[in-house]
Amino acid sequence: MKSYFTLAELTRSATADRLGLDNTPDAACRRQLERLMRVVLNPAREALGMPVYVNSGYRSPAVNRAVGGVPNSYHLQGRAADLDTRCGCNRQLFDVLSRLPHTELLWEQCGRWVHVAL
Ligand SMILES: [Zn+2]
Repeated sequence: MKSYFTLAELTRSATADRLGLDNTPDAACRRQLERLMRVVLNPAREALGMPVYVNSGYRSPAVNRAVGGVPNSYHLQGRAADLDTRCGCNRQLFDVLSRLPHTELLWEQCGRWVHVAL
């Protein structure tokens, strides 16, 4: 299956850029991000048939602290992504994700985006 997502997209962080924090995943986290793309993100994008944007993927400990993430967040392991269709279709995205493998699936920021973790 073609990949709709890139490692760069999953490690990009506006907070890291703004604060000059390193957000480079190690090899283990990169493997988790690749697995997340293969098992969850690409199948979800394929099934949904519309663009899915990544608000936040991998977070280094410093970045996770800066954004107020919980200390044991799956984002730290490269196992989570915050997703937004930016077209008001997050309900459909949530439904598609609910039928794919995941350990966490929840609405964040009062339903502004969907958090999924594998
Ligand atoms: Zn999240």
